[in-house]
Amino acid sequence: MHKTYQHSSASASDHTLNTILNIIVEGVWDWNSNTKVVTRSPSWYHMLGYEFAAFRKDVFTWENIIHPEDYPRVMHEFERYISGDINAYDIEYRCKKSDDSYLWIADRGAIIARNTDGSVDRMIGAHHDIHQQVMAQTDLIEKNNLLQDSHLSLEKVIAQKTDELAKKNQQLERKIIEVESVSNIDPLTEIANRKLFETVLNKEIIRADRYHHPLTLVMFDLDKFKEINDQYGHKVGDNILCIISKLVAQNIRDVDLFARWGGDEFVIIFPELSQKQAHQTSDKLREMISQYQIKDKISVTCSFGIAQYNSGDSIDSLFKRVDKQLYISKAQGRNQVYSEVI
Ligand code: GH3
Ligand code: MG
Repeated sequence: MHKTYQHSSASASDHTLNTILNIIVEGVWDWNSNTKVVTRSPSWYHMLGYEFAAFRKDVFTWENIIHPEDYPRVMHEFERYISGDINAYDIEYRCKKSDDSYLWIADRGAIIARNTDGSVDRMIGAHHDIHQQVMAQTDLIEKNNLLQDSHLSLEKVIAQKTDELAKKNQQLERKIIEVESVSNIDPLTEIANRKLFETVLNKEIIRADRYHHPLTLVMFDLDKFKEINDQYGHKVGDNILCIISKLVAQNIRDVDLFARWGGDEFVIIFPELSQKQAHQTSDKLREMISQYQIKDKISVTCSFGIAQYNSGDSIDSLFKRVDKQLYISKAQGRNQVYSEVI
């Protein structure tokens, strides 16, 4: 075996050992429990920024420089080791430097001799400067926490914004429904207006074509309504339009669409009804309106025109035919129902 060191005397080998220890570790300590002397290497003082041999050579020198927050933990670990509870003394803590700042060190030691009663005779150890590592680790943990915090707060902001957006959407949907219903309803009579009527008629025409089902359109107009207005006033006239609307709406099916065409003119779409069936229903409505007592001595009549949708009809051509029948009703003395001769 190759021998790097060969010493002729114990003092020569001590010198080599101390030099090596000074080079490879930051601080060496050697505690003699019986004499109560702790010997510390020059590098131990150097590591903490003190002049060599600046302190008394006892354990209190060490205890006095341990950070107060770390002190109980260090003492507990030390006692556990010397009492034999644990097999190794290996702990990290902070020591006070000459400039009053604290340096993180790793302290490792071992008992190399015990007294006959089992108590410690001699223990040696070394202090390593691990400050940079601990600082880097702490920095990393802080950054990680910061990252997690910002991640969490970002999630919170996103959740809050999503919530706000959902609420805004809900409000918007409600507004759309409100606007749509307003734009589809006649404000005076509160039945469908011309716009909704046209939309529904288009749909019903498509359905009638697809299933070859009948579809009949009815138009009716109040008779001599100008005279009623003139006689009782426009307000009463308005009221009569509302009463007639309610009466008709209550006496047709849910699938039928009843709308105000404009002025004193109304239209009804009768899906699935032939012209003949629609004629019978319209005649009942005519009768009912004419017998209805609106106010003392006030009653009104209506004239009806009817036409069934034929495949290929446009809305215009269908209306022309309905209009013609209504004209005939009026011409034939009013309070009549007329439909095309088939
Ligand atoms: P006809 O039997 O030929 O239908 O006679 P008419 O007097 O009803 O004449 P026409 O249908 O041509 O006129 C409709 C009248 O309805 C005109 C107007 O005075 C009245 N009118 C239209 N819209 C309203 C309304 O919103 N309120 C009121 N009170 N009257 C209206
Ligand atoms: Mg009229």
